[in-house]
Amino acid sequence: MNEQELLGKINTGLYIGGEWRDSSDGRTLDVEDPATGKTLTSVADATVEDGAAALDAAVAAQAEWAATPPRERGELLRSAFDLINERADEFALLMTLEMGKPLAQSKGEVAYGGEFFRWFSEEAVRIAGRWSTAPDGKTRLVTMKQPVGPTLMITPWNFPLAMGTRKIGPAIAAGCTMVIKPAGQTPLTMLALAQLLEEVGVPKGVVNVVTTSRTGDVMEPIIGDPRLRKLTFTGSTPVGKNLVRQSADQLLRVSMELGGNAPFLVFEDADLDAAVEGAMLAKMRNMGEACTAANRFLVHESVADEFARRFAAKMDEQVLGRGTEEGVTVGPLIDDKQLGKVAELVDDATSRGASVVTGGSKTGDAGYFFQPTVLKDVPAEADLVREEIFGPVAPITTFSEEDKAVQMANDTEYGLVAYAFTTDLGRAVRVSESLHFGMVGVNQGIVSNPAAPFGGVKQSGFGREGGIEGIEEYLDVKYVGIAP
Ligand code: NAP
Repeated sequence: MNEQELLGKINTGLYIGGEWRDSSDGRTLDVEDPATGKTLTSVADATVEDGAAALDAAVAAQAEWAATPPRERGELLRSAFDLINERADEFALLMTLEMGKPLAQSKGEVAYGGEFFRWFSEEAVRIAGRWSTAPDGKTRLVTMKQPVGPTLMITPWNFPLAMGTRKIGPAIAAGCTMVIKPAGQTPLTMLALAQLLEEVGVPKGVVNVVTTSRTGDVMEPIIGDPRLRKLTFTGSTPVGKNLVRQSADQLLRVSMELGGNAPFLVFEDADLDAAVEGAMLAKMRNMGEACTAANRFLVHESVADEFARRFAAKMDEQVLGRGTEEGVTVGPLIDDKQLGKVAELVDDATSRGASVVTGGSKTGDAGYFFQPTVLKDVPAEADLVREEIFGPVAPITTFSEEDKAVQMANDTEYGLVAYAFTTDLGRAVRVSESLHFGMVGVNQGIVSNPAAPFGGVKQSGFGREGGIEGIEEYLDVKYVGIAP
């Protein structure tokens, strides 16, 4: 299927109560191809009234959905998993068009994103409580788990499919209905997913999707509506903090998957080939536009030059271009703003004394391309040591002692993921235990796995997605005391 045929197949309306409709004021929102800066298509631009209608639909569907047998909910997810895989090429192309990542990476995301549906199809039938006798023997203590209720899901542009399925999967498994607000830059993948969920038979009103450019205006009344029971957000830390404040009035159940500033530690005993391979994954997946992206490379002084040389050689092998083209390994950044921010961070680091091993600037006549870049001798005061870079830039700093390395790694307000490369088992355990992060990759540059609890500590947020923990975010515990 070519690009135009695929775009023509996408339903670009709002999906509310099982119907596709235009925005109530008829406005639309353009979706851009970041490789060319050209408009791909446009989607409905929801109003406040449309947002309210979506919540109405979710609320109306909640009771019946909660009473649907778990096996049925699981089977719907399983059918959706199968259909995503059948349509893997279409989903991949759509993501590449609207987000920019190379097709091979989009296919990787389809596989990863789809797996959340398979995983939670299996979890749907394992929701259990317990029965015990009170210590004084007088009553029976029964606990049960029930769906939290209507949930608002707000997702970012960097993983247009997986950031959605990671929330939708457990919500369907648990029996929650939902209103989903995908990022303005990448709504098409979510609309295609909603279409697929409709096709496999998810009942009307269970899944509702609103796309809008009037984001704050449309979201705030939904968050303030007492019928909403949960907010789950993946995105930047400043927006997340704002949403936590808004959710306080209702004391909503809240899950926050926010920004990161991942350290990537390479010890003197590391297998350097494995470390470079891990660094490429941790840095270059999604062109560095991942919350899990390695943001600071902390390398033992005895191996730093060699690591930098090998890493830069790999970076130099990368092929920049539109993600749809054969052989391209690095796509554009999401937009002009992000490109400008990455360029500024690099300029700031070099003006403070960092040296460029390779790359270092914007490139290309159209689209938002930045060269794969390695910087060394990066001083601690450089802005990119504190801020999420969200681009293909790897700053290297050296250390001499293990303790100091861990201290540098922990010196951030974020706490999503850290990576450590070492062949010393004792050190691997010690360092993993001392890192203040929600996840640690030991000798691996990727931690994302549908069967594992993804999430952060500190200002990277709270709550976990995936694993056996993921469904708990969508369940309330109820205790019943029975006097026999
Ligand atoms: P963002 O600007 O925070 O946007 C994320 C979502 O929030 C989008 O759907 C956006 O809608 C919406 N939003 C923006 N302002 C809002 C408001 N006032 N009220 C309600 N919703 C609002 O983040 P982003 O630039 O898309 O994504 C990048 C960030 O996400 C990075 O910081 C990254 O680390 C983080 N991230 C975290 C994880 C994780 O699991 N921890 C995973 C992926 C990404 P519009 O698009 O309409 O503005």
